[in-house]
Amino acid sequence: MAIPFIDLQAQRARLGPSLEDAILKVVRSGAFVMGPEITLLEAELARFGHADHALTCGSGTEALLLPLMAWGVGPGDAIFCPSFTFAATAEVAPLIGATPVFVDIDPVTLNMDPMSLEAAIASVVAKGELKPKVIIAVDLFGQPADYPAISTIARRHGLKLIADSAQGFGGTLGGEHPIHWADVTATSFYPAKPLGAYGDGGAVLSKDARLHDVMISVRVHGQAVKSDAEHEAFEHDPRYLNMRVGMNARMDTIQAAILLEKLKIFEDEIVARNRVAARYAEGLAGAAVTPRVIDGGLSVWAQYTIEVDRRDAMVAHLRSREVPTAVFYPIPIHRQKPYAAYPTAPGGLPVTEAKAARVLSLPMHPYLTQADQDAVIAAIRSFA
Ligand SMILES: *Cc1c(COP(=O)(O)O)cnc(C)c1O
Repeated sequence: MAIPFIDLQAQRARLGPSLEDAILKVVRSGAFVMGPEITLLEAELARFGHADHALTCGSGTEALLLPLMAWGVGPGDAIFCPSFTFAATAEVAPLIGATPVFVDIDPVTLNMDPMSLEAAIASVVAKGELKPKVIIAVDLFGQPADYPAISTIARRHGLKLIADSAQGFGGTLGGEHPIHWADVTATSFYPAKPLGAYGDGGAVLSKDARLHDVMISVRVHGQAVKSDAEHEAFEHDPRYLNMRVGMNARMDTIQAAILLEKLKIFEDEIVARNRVAARYAEGLAGAAVTPRVIDGGLSVWAQYTIEVDRRDAMVAHLRSREVPTAVFYPIPIHRQKPYAAYPTAPGGLPVTEAKAARVLSLPMHPYLTQADQDAVIAAIRSFA
């Protein structure tokens, strides 16, 4: 049987009937939108991620959009982000009329390079056309970005910091979750993410009660929320009093019910993912450049991504041995047509471009058997 790249059915078998019961309970209750599981999940996510507040939403993209809209970021504002990431990280900038400014990555961790960030901010300030507003750091492939360095830069320049932890939710640095340094953590529950639902979903973790409240409002069409009522009196149902321009960014109750079940085993799955990663590192030593996690960091291994010189030939070789692989990401965002005109850090993004040609992601999930993993390792080692 072919080795799966990600095996969601193994997890489903482990969770057994409790998962299906949770789904059926929502179906029977009829509370498809904003049912009680939503509030329960938000409390559990805040607890798990060591945040004061958690807000569920419809996707990871919305989780990035909600704080930006709540802060009123828009035209003339610069949002600094890596280019070596999933499109959504950068996409939210033009969606609200702001400008993404692309920053290079560290050659070892593949996460945002604080020196390149510093240079990008300096060049935007020197040009004087855009106002630096927000940094979005990405926990690429599951490992935390260099939050101590990046948050120091954010504070020095008065910028907001978003942790795009769509791939890294559950990861820590020195035992702390990204929210320890960031203003908000945005995450995704797309099924293939380390903590995945059975459809789309996302969440924003924060530590500022007013921001959380405004995001609740933006999530449902700018409806009046608690902190609005402190400034204004109104006689009607506050749901139909629109205080700001918002959208519909709600998570479905069914997805919340599923995530509540999956969250129970997530800690254990992170341990299993790290066991798989350690075995890869040992088995592939000398045959490929294996990933390195930042000192003190714990990765949740959304991907196990190696670097190889002759990638196309390696992919073909592995395919011939029924080993599935994937390339995240073959074209960095600043090289994609809709983003090509946006600014980059001075000198461009040489590390990003070099890595995009070399990275290769291997089968990775908590239920990867030793036999399957040994087959992957042997296939890579047999590549001449
Ligand atoms: C998946 C992902 C997102 C977007 O999440 P969706 O739930 O698909 O909208 C954002 N950023 C990164 C880094 C991602 O990997």
